[in-house]
Amino acid sequence: MNALGQRIAALIAAQGPMSIAEFMTIALHDREAGYYATRDPLGVAGDFITAPEISQMFGELIGLWLAQVWQDQGRPKNPRLVELGPGRGTLLADALRALKLVPEFLRALDVVLVEVSPVLRTLQEKSLSNCGVPVRWVPEFRTIAHDRPFYLIANEFFDALPIQQYVKTERGWCERMVSVDRSGELAFALSPPLPEWSLPIAQNRAGAPNGSVYEFSKAGVSLAEDIGHFVEDVGGAAIIIDYGYDVPGFSETLQAVASHKFADVLSAPGSSDLSAHVDFSALRIAARQGGAAVYGPIGQGEFLTALGIAQRAERLSRADPQKIAAEVNRLTNVDQMGTLFKALAIVPKFAPTPPGFG
Ligand code: SAH
Repeated sequence: MNALGQRIAALIAAQGPMSIAEFMTIALHDREAGYYATRDPLGVAGDFITAPEISQMFGELIGLWLAQVWQDQGRPKNPRLVELGPGRGTLLADALRALKLVPEFLRALDVVLVEVSPVLRTLQEKSLSNCGVPVRWVPEFRTIAHDRPFYLIANEFFDALPIQQYVKTERGWCERMVSVDRSGELAFALSPPLPEWSLPIAQNRAGAPNGSVYEFSKAGVSLAEDIGHFVEDVGGAAIIIDYGYDVPGFSETLQAVASHKFADVLSAPGSSDLSAHVDFSALRIAARQGGAAVYGPIGQGEFLTALGIAQRAERLSRADPQKIAAEVNRLTNVDQMGTLFKALAIVPKFAPTPPGFG
């Protein structure tokens, strides 16, 4: 077991088993040894690759989507562009470059990046050093003031938020916890059965067979509710893109990934990325509870096609047609990122339908 694993085991010895959400928070964000606190996980040499790292078209189309929404909403004054978990800053750099086509939007923007990782923040500063507009960083979404309409991007952010797992057993629903086994290693263990009223499960779970696993992200749901409330309060829009499902399938999706391969969740905390598929139905309900209108989710392929990825690809193709065709295929094909990845839009209740969702 590594040093962070030993610290977690000591914590469990002192306080009892911890929830998977607590384990994920420590493994991802511990200041000394947490996964995001200590490295750049992205790219071919890293642990995983994301859409903006695959193709510049991704960020460009999202930037133009935001500008179109802003125009459709009557060009509200002083728009703010917020990105949650901007990674290397690639998406934002591509979006801001494309937004030179809409200078009235670009010039007015207050750009705010929500990032916890000091390593990634440094990379973001580099990518955005010549972007032509001032940018600033905050560690938490909640600290952003409700004083301007905001246009929010979250790509592969919600999958990194902590989840809890509930397992259906003969005795009822139990929470899966992280504990320590007899040999001192971290191991999963079930809590005693939980009373029905204490379960966060909104969907019809009565018929779920024994062995079903329900994953719930308290952090994700409360953030989606905050975003819904924010958008309804000050105007704007949010686009959330991630891998996930539209209806919970009662199967587990928590995964550890290192060097582009699946790894064990518990054996070396802090050295692999932990994530879970996003429950879009839960985000949709939460954002509506916040007061906003929600569109989607629709497949990433359908979304990017509606935004004109084919036309953009044609213009870029002159230099290297094979490379561009491969990028389009990766982002939109149903066997690649086209349907597993989904887009969800959150807008004020009486705002026009956002582009791509009509
Ligand atoms: N959006 C980027 C990066 C995705 S990786 C891309 O598409 O390439 C997840 C990002 O979210 C990283 O930047 C990570 O540091 C950040 N992050 C994860 N959890 C966070 C949290 N709780 N608060 C703020 N940022 C977080």
